[in-house]
Amino acid sequence: MNRSFTLRCFSCRHQYGFTLWVSSLYPQEYKTCIKDIRTGKYGTEWQELFLKERSFAVDARETLYLCHNCRDWDIQPSLAAYLPKSEGKPVFSEKGAKPSGPVEFVSPEQLREMYLYKSYPHPCKRCGSRMKRANTEHLLFLTCPRCGAENEVLTVIDWGE
Ligand SMILES: [Zn+2]
Ligand SMILES: [Zn+2]
Repeated sequence: MNRSFTLRCFSCRHQYGFTLWVSSLYPQEYKTCIKDIRTGKYGTEWQELFLKERSFAVDARETLYLCHNCRDWDIQPSLAAYLPKSEGKPVFSEKGAKPSGPVEFVSPEQLREMYLYKSYPHPCKRCGSRMKRANTEHLLFLTCPRCGAENEVLTVIDWGE
């Protein structure tokens, strides 16, 4: 599902929007995402998972996350780790794989054929709580990136699958 939003701050009238979609650049984004995971950008747990087990695939789609504690929010790749169903539980190789090795691209459609091994625990940058994936109802809880006040939702557009 592709989705785009426009919001406007009740207080300072700042208008902003974002689009969450899978573009033709997604294979490149996927590779960058795997590279970032393997270099430790998203913490040691994910780094080790993706270095030790080559068959892990990632959901690299940009997703909206909201902190239910302090209401900070962010758009980040989902980073959920998937494994092929046929392989069952992961078997970690002893030596591990080289981070420089080729990355096999797995599309969002292919992910549906795999099983979810673990969701990434997106920590809030402000308070450290685990952020949750936001749906349309949560848009009302987003705070203005300029002044922190409440927003009104002007448009939500869905297209594609
Ligand atoms: Zn927070
Ligand atoms: Zn504002």
